[in-house]
Amino acid sequence: MSSSVKFTLNHEQDTQHFAQILSQHVHSGIIYLIGDLGAGKTTFTRYFLQNLGHQGSVKSPTYTLVEPYTIQGKEIFHFDLYRLNDPYELELMGIRDYLDTPDALFLFEWPSKGGDEIPKPDIVIDIQKSEDELTRFVTLTTASDALSQTLQEQLNGA
Ligand code: ADP
Ligand code: MG
Repeated sequence: MSSSVKFTLNHEQDTQHFAQILSQHVHSGIIYLIGDLGAGKTTFTRYFLQNLGHQGSVKSPTYTLVEPYTIQGKEIFHFDLYRLNDPYELELMGIRDYLDTPDALFLFEWPSKGGDEIPKPDIVIDIQKSEDELTRFVTLTTASDALSQTLQEQLNGA
């Protein structure tokens, strides 16, 4: 079973706040980031990593496929599969070695391009832009009722 939390991000600061809250509760596993170009997947990831204590830049791994981080001893891998032509390319770039990293956290932009080469998610964050592109509507889905309840309280105050 899974449950969803829905909320709205009206400003980039709201995205920062959301990233801050999630970084307090999620320390390992697989996060899928879904949404069109410019939805805010990389922006969310940037704030998420900064909240964990990362101080350098956060580059979009559009061309490199993956950008690895070690933040306070924790291994985090930010993937962007947008330019992937075939999921098999992940096999060739050694994704299994990344996935074997114990206790690591993985963020995937464009997970649909990864086919069966990437694991099933623990959390799916779907970000949709409004018509005027000012607002983001987010649906976060997780199998953890405890997490969805916590996020519901902290993001929607209910
Ligand atoms: P994606 O990785 O989904 O293609 P990016 O994070 O690279 O998107 O770009 C999102 C763009 O939208 C950035 O220029 C960011 O400043 C802007 N933006 C405006 N409002 C928001 C918001 N609420 N959350 C995230 N990004 C926002
Ligand atoms: Mg991106």
